[in-house]
Amino acid sequence: LVSRENHPERSTVHVGGVPIGPDTVTLIAGPCAVETHQQTLEAARMAQAAGAVLLRGGAFKPRTSPYAFQGLGEKGLRILADVREETGLPIVTEIVDAQDVELVASYADMLQVGTRNMQNFALLQAVGAAGRPVMLKRGMNATIEEWLMAAEYIAQRGNLDIVLCERGIRTFETATRNTLDVSAVPVAQRLSHLPVIVDPSHSGGRRELVLPLTRAAVAVGADGVIIDVHPHPEQALCDGPQALVGADLGELAQVMNDFPALL
Ligand code: PEP
Repeated sequence: LVSRENHPERSTVHVGGVPIGPDTVTLIAGPCAVETHQQTLEAARMAQAAGAVLLRGGAFKPRTSPYAFQGLGEKGLRILADVREETGLPIVTEIVDAQDVELVASYADMLQVGTRNMQNFALLQAVGAAGRPVMLKRGMNATIEEWLMAAEYIAQRGNLDIVLCERGIRTFETATRNTLDVSAVPVAQRLSHLPVIVDPSHSGGRRELVLPLTRAAVAVGADGVIIDVHPHPEQALCDGPQALVGADLGELAQVMNDFPALL
């Protein structure tokens, strides 16, 4: 269903009216985690100023350590919905448990399946039936074939509004959190008709890598990027070191404006 063999034209997925697909590079940005209304609104305004057309923000946070901030849950979803009202930005937020599908889908414009859940087949089937577009992140240990098969689980439930997101894979390299596999973008676009975007924030794990990796993503033909921004990263409850700050946003806007010149 997601293969390009029977569907040669590349697809465009609409999220709250915003297109993700060929001919454009969609900027999705926002805080890694929703912490407060004020923090989320400030991050959303920063994102919007840089050209973001969709707001990201985690209310359910799958963390490596069980002692780390796990997200605000439904309260976080309510904050996101309020900020959507205030900014007009449709929201993308992660779902970690198949039991929460109805709840998360009642707030979100797009459901995000994270790297740790790429092969959580019950979750994939549940989001496939949720009636919302889905962003499927590549498992950090997954091959491209496994990633596309995970997308197939979603599609099989009748939902073809799927956006693939390359977010870095595990390699022997320790200088970055994960290794951004830029080649996955053209490979997945050749094998599948689905749009493919890149998360330079979670792959690099460090602020100073985000803009260079964004340029790489755009140059290799990604259909969008999803980027962490935070008004006060030093106080962030999640992944502060990778969040872009106000001073970076002019350059981010420039990269997005320049994208046709990079191609
Ligand atoms: C995220 O985008 O908030 C996230 C946790 O990403 P990943 O699943 O890629 O680690």
